[in-house]
Amino acid sequence: MNVQPLSKQFVDVSQGVGVPHEAPKTRRSASALWPSSAVGVIGLDEPRGRAEHTRQCYARAMSTAALITFGCKVNQVDSRQLEEALRRGGFRLRPPSEPADAYVINSCSVTAASDRRCRQTLRQLRRRFPEATLVVTGCYAETQAAEVLDLPEVDLVVGNCDKSGLVERLQQRLGAKAVPQTAAGPAGVSPRHATTRAFLAIQNGCDRRCAYCIVPRARGPSRSKPFDEVVAGVSEQVARGYAEVVLTGINLGSYGRDLAPQRSLAEVLHATVGLAGRARVRLSSVEPAEIDDGLCTALGLPHVCPHVHLPLQSGADRILEAMGRPYSAQVVRDLVQSLVQRQPETAIGADVMVGFPGETAADFDQTAVLLRELPIAYLHVFSYSPRPGTAAERLCDGVTAETKASRSAELRRLGQAKWHAFQQASVAKEHVAVVARKRDPKTQSRLTIAGNYLRIYVPDEPELVDHLVRVRVTELRGPMLVGAIVEC
Ligand code: SF4
Repeated sequence: MNVQPLSKQFVDVSQGVGVPHEAPKTRRSASALWPSSAVGVIGLDEPRGRAEHTRQCYARAMSTAALITFGCKVNQVDSRQLEEALRRGGFRLRPPSEPADAYVINSCSVTAASDRRCRQTLRQLRRRFPEATLVVTGCYAETQAAEVLDLPEVDLVVGNCDKSGLVERLQQRLGAKAVPQTAAGPAGVSPRHATTRAFLAIQNGCDRRCAYCIVPRARGPSRSKPFDEVVAGVSEQVARGYAEVVLTGINLGSYGRDLAPQRSLAEVLHATVGLAGRARVRLSSVEPAEIDDGLCTALGLPHVCPHVHLPLQSGADRILEAMGRPYSAQVVRDLVQSLVQRQPETAIGADVMVGFPGETAADFDQTAVLLRELPIAYLHVFSYSPRPGTAAERLCDGVTAETKASRSAELRRLGQAKWHAFQQASVAKEHVAVVARKRDPKTQSRLTIAGNYLRIYVPDEPELVDHLVRVRVTELRGPMLVGAIVEC
């Protein structure tokens, strides 16, 4: 099925374009209400939120914006790009807790709970900052545009395919207060973020149609970044000083299938092997059906993190089939065993969905048994909730909220036990880890993050931040792994 993204380029509540419910006309952006010339003019009878907003905004000349991101790593990458675009567009970025002229919510719509969180955030923002312009973009905005438009808090809705024009639209709305800036840094290279890892989105969209998933509608068909651009992008991030580059995509394993000539994720990993020792590459989640022998081999390359995150969803063949997932429990069993046999320290994580329509107690038991028997390191457990526009929406749900809650709780307990065992098994072993910026204030120790996601605290050596080091784990102290750097 060819996915057609919403055709509206921008839908501005204030303009009433196809809008069943308009935002209050009296609300205007903070910039328009209190330009810098209005310093100190705070009406005594102003509502508290407005007065607070004014006090903290009045002394500046540029518009301010805050970005709130929900959802997957692809959304996080999109948010970084939005951040850069906002900066280039002349906005000063603020943390979401502080007053700003505009708040951009980059939403997720993977579950009904994701939509709910977005709505809650909008309500909270509107209460705290009644004059700010609230913009919703991302998957919720793309798939449920009419619903989002209906929310009284929302001023502007921008679909995923229109994100690149969001800043311009926002500037228009705020009355051209933003002053375009030239890109900071040498040779137009924007400065690196204050994080240890760089995220590189190399693929977007998905050609599959899993019964519960709205993402193909939100993101469109699978598209891959050109191979040379990906390899150059990884090198560029390493040149900027990142010790880890995370390759992300909506269906990352399908990378390269749409390119001519066809490429693959395994080829990307082989092409970046020269990084070994200076930096490493991590993959975000990869569909079990997309991991072939070539990718299994590439995952063992020295610069590739021993970490595989599988959106497994269920261990019952009947449910996998109903979900439209193209693999069986046996395929998962073989895959996980093969990955761990090749590289025993590999952390394998799994997303699991409980309560898909028709999931019986026996189906759930099959999932629990599979997860118990496999050397999986951690679990992300979700409860199924129907998404409008998906095939599963038409299925009779049948699993009660209580059953979903108890199945989730059981798997979460299992996940915790598995993670504890995985941590325990790492004691007295050495791991390549990146030295993070985070310190534990109580113990004055420094966090390091191993390729298999173990978080190991070591005696602080601030000059090693952002570098790869070899760490030996000495003990598991409560929930915390403790070790020492043995080679840098
Ligand atoms: S593979 Fe399935 S679950 Fe994943 S994005 Fe595509 S349709 Fe959604």
